[in-house]
Amino acid sequence: MKVLLNAFDSASHAGPFPNLAIMKLAAFHKAKGDEVALIGKGLKRQTIMPDPDRVYVSCVFDWNGSQAKGLRLMSSAPEFYIGGSGIDLVNKLPPEVEAAAPDYDIYDGRGVPGWRYAIGFSSRGCNRKCGFCVVPQKEGRIQPATSLDMLTAGFDKVLLLDNNIMQDPEIETKLRWLADWGGQVNFNQGIDARVIERKPHLAPLLVETKFRTRSFKSKIVTLAYDYPHYHNIIERAVKILDDAGFDLRRQVQFYVITNYDTTFEQDLFRVNHLKSLGTAPYVMIYDKRNAPLNVRRLQRYTNRPALFWQMDWKDYSRRPLEKGEFLAEIQIGDF
Ligand code: SF4
Repeated sequence: MKVLLNAFDSASHAGPFPNLAIMKLAAFHKAKGDEVALIGKGLKRQTIMPDPDRVYVSCVFDWNGSQAKGLRLMSSAPEFYIGGSGIDLVNKLPPEVEAAAPDYDIYDGRGVPGWRYAIGFSSRGCNRKCGFCVVPQKEGRIQPATSLDMLTAGFDKVLLLDNNIMQDPEIETKLRWLADWGGQVNFNQGIDARVIERKPHLAPLLVETKFRTRSFKSKIVTLAYDYPHYHNIIERAVKILDDAGFDLRRQVQFYVITNYDTTFEQDLFRVNHLKSLGTAPYVMIYDKRNAPLNVRRLQRYTNRPALFWQMDWKDYSRRPLEKGEFLAEIQIGDF
């Protein structure tokens, strides 16, 4: 059987990233002797497969869902499956596919930054209920998944997809294990600042791990500052990280979600608050296509560290629109 795998939206400004479900499907079908090909946005090398018998499309982000669903109309394959969080929160891989060890070979030579590394979940789920996040509905409460020694076997780098690893009842043991293991680790979904604030003893363990960004190029750990009313918690968490030995400006960043249910003033407050604490914000935009210009400008200003640390928002906001900002504005029809 000829099987075409389409990692539809596994790419961002930082380059393509591997899709775990696609790697499991590849392993499952290769074990059955099927011929497998991979295509996907941003991949350096696409594999041509004329007339596949079966197509799988994985779509991670809901804003790409309708475009991904359109592929069904264009496909002549007798069997066509589409899934992922961008499509719905119910469909899961069949248990026999979920149990397969990922086929890492399929991403070799595809231009994934930092490749090769182990990838997987040591836990799934989250006990919080942030309105902008699909995890509570999709994954439920925190529960154990694959052990760290199984996940990392044969690798010296691991990208952990855990939805909220800091809530794991075994977090202390896991951080100790990662520090002793000595390999590089990317906490892909970030570190929960509220847990750091409640359990300060975890910060010295965290700083002992070889934490890295997703490309494994930079030594940065990411937390989140979702709402302005967390300001006291964030201040205490930053102090705890500082005391534990983190270089706040170079090794710590905070996601600041915007355009969800905060005002622009509240977004700006969080950005400036983090700056005053000596640590770096990283602005994320919910539903970016429909975000107002000032929010998109705040992102352009904040996420460029050289500019951010050199200039205040007040001065940046008075500058003329940059080329990208002007074009974006035309695209959404504001002019
Ligand atoms: S803490 Fe993180 S994983 Fe949990 S619901 Fe909020 S955003 Fe989602």
